[in-house]
Amino acid sequence: MGRVPSSGQIKKLRLNLLAWFDDNREVRPWREDFKRLASPYPVWISEIMLQQTTIPVVLPIYTNFINRYPTVRHLAQAPLAEVLNALTGLGYYQRFRNLHKAAQNFVTEANSAGGTLGLINWPKNYVDWLKIPGVGPYTAGAISSIVLGEAKAAVDGNVERILCRLLEIKNPVSAPGIKVFIREIAEKLVCPNQPGNFNEALMELGQKICKKSRPNCPLCPLRNQCQASKQGTQNLLPSKSTLKKKVEIINFIAQVHIWGDKMGLIKRGSSDTRFLKQSTGFPLVEIKAPGEHSTKILESGLSHQPNNNASLQLRHRITKHDLRIWIKIYKYQNMSHSNPRILWWNQLEIPKIINSSLDKKIFDKVHSVLTSS
Ligand code: SF4
Repeated sequence: MGRVPSSGQIKKLRLNLLAWFDDNREVRPWREDFKRLASPYPVWISEIMLQQTTIPVVLPIYTNFINRYPTVRHLAQAPLAEVLNALTGLGYYQRFRNLHKAAQNFVTEANSAGGTLGLINWPKNYVDWLKIPGVGPYTAGAISSIVLGEAKAAVDGNVERILCRLLEIKNPVSAPGIKVFIREIAEKLVCPNQPGNFNEALMELGQKICKKSRPNCPLCPLRNQCQASKQGTQNLLPSKSTLKKKVEIINFIAQVHIWGDKMGLIKRGSSDTRFLKQSTGFPLVEIKAPGEHSTKILESGLSHQPNNNASLQLRHRITKHDLRIWIKIYKYQNMSHSNPRILWWNQLEIPKIINSSLDKKIFDKVHSVLTSS
């Protein structure tokens, strides 16, 4: 494992990092909104959005979202489908379902205590934030340090990378005990006087200077404390795991039902697919092998066969799952065979109804075929 910094080194590191942040911090709308509203709401929203997504992707979506739902009460009152639509492009919709559910819980609790003017009882510390649906250790650390001034670390992949280099940790992060070791060090490093600024500074350092490839050590405020930079090993760290991530290939048929200028979507139930449960989209049927014909879900009862257009295929990655999608188009002459689960929408409305990037890919593929034929 790497060398643990002395208390003197930790003090210098905090001073150098915070001085750099004072001069280099970016304007982030959620920081301004937090000061303006004096509420954790904007920080909570932005941290949930930033899970698994980059800042440039989040910025325009955050701005639209906060204009549309400026308070937790606005968010709680909005229909879930509308909220998910406002978050299109951020992927992983389960976390936004949790966000919406948590907003409703906050408001219900406030109303039962003081009616519609009841104050929101926001979590008071890191442990309470951890109890909120969709909030894990990283997000709880970020929110409690920024909003409450609690000296808690916010350790994500960026921070793991910086600490691997700073302490010259040569084991892969995935090796036994390394994540725990990094977290312990991160908790020691957090500046107790400015924990929010410290965590944000470390995140910005990872985005701008200590990047994944080619870290810019000459410009780094931590270069005098950094073991990897001293040894010239910064480009070799963090070490890659020798264990290959297992990718699971899953085959699906996506059914696209078309009747005139309308397309059919379903509200997916919890037993329909392993992915995108409870969302509105195209019917998806998991098959064992490519080309397998499925009679599941909405296909039974149809008197006609779908297209067999081999080019109507696409691939989509969801975490460690490689989805291979075969798109089948069913064109209807009349509605006598329409399954009651199908909800018909004008094709122009479909992009506003579907939220997941997989459904959007399916729609774009089919739309391009239909408009070119
Ligand atoms: S000196 Fe280089 S390797 Fe070390 S923390 Fe800074 S950018 Fe990263």
